[in-house]
Amino acid sequence: MSDPKPAAETRSFEAEVSRLLHMMVHSVYSNRDVFLRELVSNAADACEKLRTLALAEPALAAGDEAFKIEIEADKAAPGLAIADNGIGMSRQELIDNLGTIAQSGTRAFLKQAGEGAKGSALIGQFGVGFYSAFMVADSVTVTSRKAGTDEAWRWHSDGKGAYEVEPVDLADAPARGTRIVLHLNAESAAYAETETIERIVTAYSAHVPVPIVLKLADGEEEQLADGSALWRKPKSAVTEEEYKEFYGHVGGRFDDPAVTIHYRAEGRTEYSVLLYVPSSRPFDLFEPERRGKVKLYVRRVFITDEAEILPPWLRFVRGVIDSEDLPLNLSREMLQKNPVIEAIGKGVTNRVLTDLDKLATDDPERFAKVWEAFGAVLKEGLYEAPDRRDALFKLARFKTTTGGDAWRSLADIVAGFRPNQTAIYYALGDDAATIAASPHLEGFAKRGIEVLMLADPVDAFWVRTALGFDGKPFESVTQGAAQLDAIPALDDASATDEKTSDAALAALAARLKQALGDKVAEVRGSTRLATSPACLVAPEFGPDRQLEKILASRDGAGGRMAAILELNPSHPLIAGLAAQAAEGGAAAASVDAAAPLIFGLARILDGEAPDDPAAFAKALASLMEKTLSGAA
Ligand code: ADP
Ligand code: MG
Repeated sequence: MSDPKPAAETRSFEAEVSRLLHMMVHSVYSNRDVFLRELVSNAADACEKLRTLALAEPALAAGDEAFKIEIEADKAAPGLAIADNGIGMSRQELIDNLGTIAQSGTRAFLKQAGEGAKGSALIGQFGVGFYSAFMVADSVTVTSRKAGTDEAWRWHSDGKGAYEVEPVDLADAPARGTRIVLHLNAESAAYAETETIERIVTAYSAHVPVPIVLKLADGEEEQLADGSALWRKPKSAVTEEEYKEFYGHVGGRFDDPAVTIHYRAEGRTEYSVLLYVPSSRPFDLFEPERRGKVKLYVRRVFITDEAEILPPWLRFVRGVIDSEDLPLNLSREMLQKNPVIEAIGKGVTNRVLTDLDKLATDDPERFAKVWEAFGAVLKEGLYEAPDRRDALFKLARFKTTTGGDAWRSLADIVAGFRPNQTAIYYALGDDAATIAASPHLEGFAKRGIEVLMLADPVDAFWVRTALGFDGKPFESVTQGAAQLDAIPALDDASATDEKTSDAALAALAARLKQALGDKVAEVRGSTRLATSPACLVAPEFGPDRQLEKILASRDGAGGRMAAILELNPSHPLIAGLAAQAAEGGAAAASVDAAAPLIFGLARILDGEAPDDPAAFAKALASLMEKTLSGAA
């Protein structure tokens, strides 16, 4: 018994696929036309992959070097077929590629979409690729013969949870590549009409880099796309619509591009660029293996979408870079540390930053949308690429304590400095609401100082390494000794507040430090508080407390440094305690009893539990008891 060919086999989709299919089919998808774009894009990719492989191994494409995509409609069935003479798929590839959803964003997508009604809107932002066929078809048959092999396989599914794979006779398969046949469902018969197909291909796929022909009933062929490379055309010859259509193909997205960058670089390195900044976030933006997906071509031949041409902090950019200088037979190793690719990467990065800056000036509203979607990614560049910091600082926008909903630039913030203000102040936190409620901001609010609210995880990292902006250092509101005394309060009345004398405060601080021991690094008076009695701040040169929190949650344990306890000299509670500390004797002893309460209170204001909840509760209960019995 030789060559036991596996027979037909029924397998079930991964659980995730079934859920996604169910959601897609049951959501009223606003634009079902895009299924054709997805299948045509896949067919074009398959042709381009083979074109590249055939450079090294011409036999693979021998006999049929003219790559093309054929569409054929059958009004009677009604059915639609999309065929390509590209690379094709083996049995295993059919299983791997069509039985699993490869995109890493799928999991995140499903989590976000849930079973809820939000699903339909979200699908519109997510490239569902091959599976979109099930929006219009009640069954899909894929017959494929991989280039260079002499076996063919058929994949069939009704999209309801299972699929079959079986071997087919070579006579029933394309000589090379893949043929996908859709049996259209009752609502989708129109997709078998010539006019519909012409309209969709013109709208969505007119510039894929492989020619597309439509086979007509009389045996004639109509060319729908000539396969010319849009990015090679001069800007003046390309319309807005064409740019948008190509974005859909190359970006696999359903939104509109926010920025289109099209130019040709000449000189030492020559290349054409057609890149897009999307207007909405893809789902896998923060996946750990975050990579860009810009397609690299060499003289119109697709090479790879895995070359890291642009830095990771521009990974949201989509499109094509076509080099004149690279060799066609680029190996994986050659892609790394290649001086030509590095030069291109540098040049294109410059251009993307310049164009974003231009957008910020010309159309601040549209730019704000881009920043909202991708600011958190761009900010990674602030610490990953110190040489780009100035350019990125120009683009950076922030929500601030005094700015309301507006996105403020650093220049705006410096222009709004209060008299004697020398630093740009920031507060780190999990979200704007928590930050805004922080007691550390009271003294800043009283003085009308604008404070950056930094709520992206990346913020804790760049803000410490960035040396400042425009000569002004960045300072955390929860760190070091804020020098706020020199900055006048907005409201004169509060300037005349009763303040505990420095000497009394020093005595109280010493007593509290003694009572709290190593739990605090220091106890001192504060200028950053207005209404709260006390708060915790990080030592001048230690890590910010929010950063410590992030690191601790990331690495598990990770000890935190003892914080500094700051006291509000204008608060009646502090004034009262200071008076008792100064009195000495039994009065001073009651300060010791209050110490865990003050410390616990400061921790609660920091969003944490008292370090010893039982002791805190006991001290609080005994205090209340005393107060209540005193009042009786
Ligand atoms: P994506 O194109 O984003 O990878 P798809 O769902 O559109 O996702 O396709 C999944 C995979 O199936 C592709 O990456 C490719 O490997 C394979 N594939 C789909 N269509 C074809 C085709 N016509 N020829 C060869 N491979 C294909
Ligand atoms: Mg695809």
